[in-house]
Amino acid sequence: MTIETITPHGTPTTGSSAQPDMSREFNPWLAAEVRFDRAAELLGLDDGLRKLLKTPGMEVTVNIPVMMDDGRLEVFTGYRVQHSIARGPAKGGIRFSPDVTLDEVRALASWMTWKCSVVNIPFGGGKGGVICDPSILSRNEVERITRRYTAELIDVIGPERDVPAPDMNTNEQTMAWIMDTYSMHKRTTVTAVVTGKPLNLGGSKGRPEATGRGCLFVTLQALRRFHIDPSEARVVVQGFGNVGGLGAKLMRKAGMKVISIIEWDGALYNEHGLDIEALMAHRQKTGSINGFEGGEAIDRHEAMFLDCDVLVPAAKENVVHSQNAAKIKAKIMTEGANGPTTAVADKILAEKGVFVIPDILANAGGVTVSYFEWVQDRQGYFWNEQLVNGRLEEIMVNSFKDVVEYAERHHVDNRTAAYMLALDRVAFAIKLRGIYA
Ligand code: NAD
Repeated sequence: MTIETITPHGTPTTGSSAQPDMSREFNPWLAAEVRFDRAAELLGLDDGLRKLLKTPGMEVTVNIPVMMDDGRLEVFTGYRVQHSIARGPAKGGIRFSPDVTLDEVRALASWMTWKCSVVNIPFGGGKGGVICDPSILSRNEVERITRRYTAELIDVIGPERDVPAPDMNTNEQTMAWIMDTYSMHKRTTVTAVVTGKPLNLGGSKGRPEATGRGCLFVTLQALRRFHIDPSEARVVVQGFGNVGGLGAKLMRKAGMKVISIIEWDGALYNEHGLDIEALMAHRQKTGSINGFEGGEAIDRHEAMFLDCDVLVPAAKENVVHSQNAAKIKAKIMTEGANGPTTAVADKILAEKGVFVIPDILANAGGVTVSYFEWVQDRQGYFWNEQLVNGRLEEIMVNSFKDVVEYAERHHVDNRTAAYMLALDRVAFAIKLRGIYA
């Protein structure tokens, strides 16, 4: 597949209200395929290996009977896909959502393979999901779904096989239930079966901030390449949640000026830098960033195009696309979110010379600390936060250097380099192991 084949159909007519159909450009699985194909082509991977790297190793569908609070028996469908275990146990989250599809879980599982490979941690990629709507379920119903889903997957998951983690609509509590159910079946407490657990059940220090902290480490590296002192760096962050909010807090702490925060319901600007902790307290109190006195309210649709050194899209996918990429003024873009840039926009950003730190690298801090959690659980020895953060920094900085040096050596953009490096490592592992027949 080529970039052209996913160009949006139709172009907007100037001065008219006609909107282009962006559905193909916004399809994350097509976008992932474009990037995979480009990297595989440049690596010269043969057809057989390409087929193997594209095809999930194992896909499990379970239909879970669950007694609802009102006495009805309901059946929910869940999936677990192990895309690759070539480099280690499958690793990846479990989401609870009415929109979960097997195709989506497959694509997300392969994404995890590349993410773990690019930061060189000894995991493959996996993902799971249950088709359900937690917003209309009671806590007890969610617990019963979680436990039965886990029981059905008892021979599929495990510390040496497949290690789930939280994802959309699942959290520490969900992981505690999975760990408990798995442990009951194994007749012994097995904390390393999941990551993202509560701290007092084998969770790791530093996990909540890990993704934002990882974004900070790679951004600092990029600033060095541009000879920009962090105290001079003007940063715009989209999304004030786990990744963006904590990332912004850490960036400010590192001396950067976070000049704008963009949320779904508004955006703030302060040329001297926003006081992020005060903004967090304000949001906690009022439920919104709006009305914060330490910044000026600006148009949230235009804030992403502010003149700045670093843009951190950390909210959702497809926010930088064919129709707006040319307006980006940032020198560096740190992709905190998964898939914030479409494949068509990649080309536009490359032509503009924007230094993109691709999602599979930039937001890999979370899975890296999940790896630390798994290691600590298996060791039964827990690290202090300083050690966790120091080891995270080492991995993020080394991975950044690996990707950027690879990009320079092969004359490709950073995203292509990240995919090439990731695919190459998995392909190499497969070749070394050989094909068992
Ligand atoms: P979150 O729900 O904690 O935060 C997302 C924030 O973005 C929320 O404050 C939300 O209000 C805001 N938002 C939603 N729509 C928006 C819009 N249109 N414009 C501006 N802001 C908007 O989620 P999170 O965990 O921070 O995840 C954000 C992204 O990072 C997702 O793409 C996720 O897949 C990715 N990611 C998260 C982690 C992690 O460890 N949490 C790891 C890797 C990747």
